[in-house]
Amino acid sequence: MCQAIDKRISVIKGDITKLEVDAIVNAANSSLLGGGGVDGAIHKAGGREILEECIKIRNKQGGCAIGEAVITNAGYLKAKFVIHTVGPVWNEGTKGEVELLDRCYKNSFQLAHEHNVKSIAYPCISTGIYRFPKDIAAKVAVNKIISLLLEHTSIEKVIFVCFDDANYLEYKKYI
Ligand code: ADP
Repeated sequence: MCQAIDKRISVIKGDITKLEVDAIVNAANSSLLGGGGVDGAIHKAGGREILEECIKIRNKQGGCAIGEAVITNAGYLKAKFVIHTVGPVWNEGTKGEVELLDRCYKNSFQLAHEHNVKSIAYPCISTGIYRFPKDIAAKVAVNKIISLLLEHTSIEKVIFVCFDDANYLEYKKYI
């Protein structure tokens, strides 16, 4: 990785709800009404205000499609925004899952850019309940974020937040 990018990208092991960054990304589901995993943790820690904004978006546009993203307030969290994106469920790679995951990273980043976000944290989208292979997911995430950081210099810092050792080790191969 080139030195300029090296300073703008990092990986940690931990709980994304605790981070003090401008925006955290949520691995949501299409309903935008919350769920398990990181989605549940974000809504639990962030409180009712996030869900209320999700419901408004849902009433307006009928949820969120796979690969797309929406932005809300961050309630009680230290972050300013939560960007909710819907990852693909892994289906042996036969349903365009890699392309859809790539779009999650891109569309979340795009929304962050539009809201003047300087620092953003991503969870390992789709690698939990949605069963995306962690090695493939990490490669997609890192490659996409490097190309987006090169394209948009306004975003200063991207942090990948891994909750488990297996994901952390995959990201560590690149970062
Ligand atoms: P998906 O349905 O997209 O697979 P999950 O929430 O089940 O979403 O899992 C996505 C990733 O988020 C998994 O790697 C899981 O270990 C991780 N995760 C769960 N809770 C947290 C948390 N509090 N902070 C960061 N990552 C988390």
